[in-house]
Amino acid sequence: MTETATAQPQIEFQDRDRLFIGGAWVPSEGQTTIEVISSSTEAPIGRVVEGTAGDVDRAVTAARAAFPAWSETPPAERADGLDRIQQGLRERRDELVRLVAAEVGIPVGLALPLQIASVAYAFKMYAAMIREYAFEETAGSSLVLREAVGVVGAITPWNYPLHQIALKVAPALAAGCTVVLKPSEVTPLNAFVLAEVIEAAGLPAGVFNLVTGTGPVVGEAIAAHPEVDMVSFTGSTRAGKRVSELAAQTVKRVTLELGGKSANVILDDADLDAAVRRNVQQVLNNTGQSCNAWSRMLVPRAQQEEAARIAAEVVAEAIVGDPFAAESTVGPLASDAQRQRVVGYIRKGQAEGARLVAGGPEAPAGLERGYYVRPTVFADVTPEMTIAQEEIFGPVIAIMPYDTEEDAIRIANDTVYGLAGAVWSADEARAKRVARKLRTGQVDINGGQFNMMAPFGGYKQSGNGRELGRFGLEEFLEVKSLQL
Ligand code: NAD
Repeated sequence: MTETATAQPQIEFQDRDRLFIGGAWVPSEGQTTIEVISSSTEAPIGRVVEGTAGDVDRAVTAARAAFPAWSETPPAERADGLDRIQQGLRERRDELVRLVAAEVGIPVGLALPLQIASVAYAFKMYAAMIREYAFEETAGSSLVLREAVGVVGAITPWNYPLHQIALKVAPALAAGCTVVLKPSEVTPLNAFVLAEVIEAAGLPAGVFNLVTGTGPVVGEAIAAHPEVDMVSFTGSTRAGKRVSELAAQTVKRVTLELGGKSANVILDDADLDAAVRRNVQQVLNNTGQSCNAWSRMLVPRAQQEEAARIAAEVVAEAIVGDPFAAESTVGPLASDAQRQRVVGYIRKGQAEGARLVAGGPEAPAGLERGYYVRPTVFADVTPEMTIAQEEIFGPVIAIMPYDTEEDAIRIANDTVYGLAGAVWSADEARAKRVARKLRTGQVDINGGQFNMMAPFGGYKQSGNGRELGRFGLEEFLEVKSLQL
């Protein structure tokens, strides 16, 4: 592991003292603001309004008023609007890359491919999809219509902030829904760029609304509001449960994209070097703050030492440091709270008897400022250990030895989560056979690529519903039958 020193201010201070409601930039009812902190310099980089339940009510009223006309707008016209948004996002791409690098801490060289490219693409994909999509079909003697669900409350996290927003806002608008967005209070600045782009794209007033603020205030007001028809939530399992409880009072549709503890199952005939390298890189991307991170590496017991050696080698190649330095490959964690959490898990792994083969709880040398941690690999991790069960959300990998294929499947399925995973084998049919037995929403076979057309979402406590592709659009559609 190499470290690079942190440089000084990366973006101009952003003072966002307005909310976007009903097509206008309006002040909040509240008087307080939330400071946004750079994860690498720990300096304030912006300030946003701390919204109130009253602000949510105004936004929901605007979204409700805009719903009839927007949902009845022909799909081709909605698609034109989405295309204008994707164009606007492309024009502001470099600004978004710097903003996300400052807010989240992802190195600028990775921000475009991992965080920003997919944002414009999501709008493009859903524009193209609704130009072709069959909103009507027959079923026997009936005509079946697919109609927009209504007003959607979108609540999003900080790890891939604008990507997560786009995966909700693009299909919701495409379906004919109107939206009230509450971005994460840790990384809210990028959402203002999207709101400006949507405003410039000329969508009717109230179709898209932005209310910043905290989860317990703005998030809960959205989940509880009787005029919100659906909540699309991405975040922790803890907050997702709370949103579901509140939404149940008005029987809202709720989709949840929650945490994960995904297993990479490396079978005994796999290319061990490729599988381990890819695993470590996949976890180090975004400093381990990916819901689909392969945080558990399952290897045949006889190959554990070799896997640990390769993993330590890949960690040693990582360049941890300033996200604005071109050579950095691993940035800081997004917040101080996140750093404390990750360091706590590393200590817990040591205390429970896992064997440290790379990294550790100390801050990386020379990086005292910024929320940096050392990429860490543990071996001899057993299923009952905390680091094998709980989502760490940092650059920490647990190597878990197994004895038989059945054993590997059992260990892989032995958590409350079921979001993603991977299987590696020289025999693709065998890999697919094992993949079918994993209780998880997505499995990469031998390093298969992320695909925006494929559904993404969780089994078990990783959530309900799917994002991306056609499945992601249909979450925002109701089904009506006309009996003829
Ligand atoms: P979080 O749950 O703390 O916050 C997510 C969002 O929910 C934020 O906007 C927050 O303000 C809001 N929120 C918090 N408490 C709330 C409440 N009581 N009511 C309503 N809203 C509330 O999660 P986070 O720390 O921002 O993100 C990390 C988590 O997100 C991880 O667990 C990660 O796995 C998960 N995640 C999942 C996916 C996925 O697609 N499955 C993607 C990204 C992140």
